[in-house]
Amino acid sequence: MGDNYDLLMTNQIFRAALFDMDDTLIDRRSAYDEVYRVFYDNHEVIHSSTSWEDALAYFWTLSASNATNARTAIIEIQKKWLGVPGDPESHYKFYFENMVKFVQVLPGAMEFADWMNEAGVNWGIVTNGDQVQHTKAEKTGIGKKTPFVLASQLFGVDKPAPEVFMEAVRLLGVDGLDTEEVLFVGDNPYTDILGAHGVGMKTAWVRMGREYPNDAPAPDYEIDHVEELKGMLA
Ligand SMILES: [Mg+2]
Repeated sequence: MGDNYDLLMTNQIFRAALFDMDDTLIDRRSAYDEVYRVFYDNHEVIHSSTSWEDALAYFWTLSASNATNARTAIIEIQKKWLGVPGDPESHYKFYFENMVKFVQVLPGAMEFADWMNEAGVNWGIVTNGDQVQHTKAEKTGIGKKTPFVLASQLFGVDKPAPEVFMEAVRLLGVDGLDTEEVLFVGDNPYTDILGAHGVGMKTAWVRMGREYPNDAPAPDYEIDHVEELKGMLA
């Protein structure tokens, strides 16, 4: 069934919305390609033996569902290409320094944030990660627009744990807000959709060109871009 049909059939206006950040409001996917292009170019053992296309396909296997552990990634890389130097801490540093350098907001997301602020939408960002997520928010500019960025590892637990979603509800600061009145928007079925669904929020999944998997709870809406949500937020 077409998703536009779903949107037209719903008359629900949500009292608040929470957004994942990477690949929902900012273009982490494109930046990931650029980060690993630098890594590929830096390491002769890789680029002398493997085409960029094949190497990139491998690097993406380290980022299932658009989530990465930059520390463990280097361990896997060193299994595939013996002799690549580095350790978990140096790779974490390399990865996030370059991620921050390359990451940009998704097209239209800043305008959408402006629209939400002008329309008086209650919203905020809930993102898995540490202080680097705040740096990414500042670098892309979305940090100046959003009422808050809740970074899971600074709070204590990652999505899909219910506690981080409930902390976000608290940060929204809307009197008497029930989780059913909150729309959660994200691209990761196993952290965003699973977690938000688990606390009773309605969910919108950002496709980013992918098919929704069978082993996660179905989202209430599927969208290609956050702009499609305007009719449900004000
Ligand atoms: Mg994401």
